[in-house]
Amino acid sequence: MEDELIKKIWDDTLVILKDTLLSTTYETWVVPLVAHSFEDNCFCTLTGQNLAVAILQKNNKEISKALSKVCGKDVYFKVVYDEQLHQQLEKEKQKNKKEEQKEFIKNLENRITASRYDGLKQMRSDCNLNLKYKFDNFVVGANNKFAHAVALAVAKDPGKQYNPLFIYGGSGLGKTHLLQAIGHDILFHKPKLKVKYVKAEEFINDLVNALARGMDKASGKNNKKMNEFRDKYRTVDVLLVDDIQLIEGKVRTEEEMFNTFETLHNAGKQIVFTSDRAPDKFENSPDRLKTRFQMGLLADIQVPDIETRMAILTKLASDNSVNMPVDVIEFLAGVYNKNVRELEGAFNTISAYTSINELPVTVEIVKKIINYSEKRKTVTVEGIIDIVAGYYNISVDDIKSTNRMAKTANARQIAIYLAKEMTGESYPYIGECFNRKHTTIMYSHEKVKSDMVHDRNLSLDIKELTDKINM
Ligand code: ADP
Ligand code: MG
Repeated sequence: MEDELIKKIWDDTLVILKDTLLSTTYETWVVPLVAHSFEDNCFCTLTGQNLAVAILQKNNKEISKALSKVCGKDVYFKVVYDEQLHQQLEKEKQKNKKEEQKEFIKNLENRITASRYDGLKQMRSDCNLNLKYKFDNFVVGANNKFAHAVALAVAKDPGKQYNPLFIYGGSGLGKTHLLQAIGHDILFHKPKLKVKYVKAEEFINDLVNALARGMDKASGKNNKKMNEFRDKYRTVDVLLVDDIQLIEGKVRTEEEMFNTFETLHNAGKQIVFTSDRAPDKFENSPDRLKTRFQMGLLADIQVPDIETRMAILTKLASDNSVNMPVDVIEFLAGVYNKNVRELEGAFNTISAYTSINELPVTVEIVKKIINYSEKRKTVTVEGIIDIVAGYYNISVDDIKSTNRMAKTANARQIAIYLAKEMTGESYPYIGECFNRKHTTIMYSHEKVKSDMVHDRNLSLDIKELTDKINM
């Protein structure tokens, strides 16, 4: 078949897949595919990403269905790993990195001449940003999709739509990363704006210092240090405050934060907060501050699902040129299931250890490096079955049996979902624990995952169970 026609079929299929697949899967694995050939009802695509073959296997049915719809007959989807394509992608990546660096430096230079800063050093310390945290190395999954989208919108149009933006979620889930990404993006595209990133802790210390110095002089009015403090935070275009929960109950800081907020907000300046909890959980803060936190937009970040965790590892491996095989990625994504910081920490330890000792990255070696036996004790498939059975008041035997009563079947599917999400085990192994085929396990896992999107009770149950299992 002609290349042009193949391309056209694939383009039409992509339009369907964009709506039917999870957006992480679509963007990360499907978009980069190259349509290759179409023979004997088999539509073959190539990938330069090692992991894509395994991941897309799970979505094969959905993709084949879309292809069949476009072609008006039964078509089977196939994806093949292509080393040449892989090399090409790597080259492009290097090239993009270099170009991006060049452009970044150019923008910095513009910014320096455009404003009256003494030099680079002062500007950097002024913004307080870490170059590591940018939008382009933030992996988007169902858990952070909304927060990511609104962070982008704020960066594009600061002070306009969502003001303040309040991002909240558990530790190590990417709040600081997103917050700083907003800062970088604004500095990059709107170099004239004055951006300030501050940790709430620093804000508190600054205030304490300003107050203490003021007292030394016992001047009472016109406190120079206090004015300096206020100037620092109230003359910016964008204020990014990290870990705002730390000011809860500190009356003087809360008052100062409130006044800073009012000044900036009234002047149409953008404010973004991050916090480990939602504003209504600030039990010891005055209502007027809480209502300010809530008057813009609230966006939460949840724990990433296993596919997103795998995508994060894949990105880390590729950015750091570490050759990490699929089974290792799957294993690690299973073990580190609560916190991206820990996942990243494990990745760093493993890549350093294996490169220094010139070891291959295999599951066996990785288990030794991360002391897997200790971790394993905490979360096992059997342990999960036990807890889920207790939670729904049924027996472990029922869960493992063929009993199809709704209550039992429901508990079983939830247990299977949690087993896949929370242990590093493979589908076949989990299948053995539940006396079921690995395809059944895959199906149950997918089903619960997609049901959770619209079933609030189900996601609350899962959250509660996850906490119990982690206890
Ligand atoms: P938090 O502020 O929520 O505690 P961080 O933003 O410090 O978490 O994230 C912890 C680490 O995990 C950082 O190194 C960050 O780059 C990384 N990280 C978190 N989420 C993601 C993501 N979605 N994509 C890529 N890296 C992430
Ligand atoms: Mg943080």
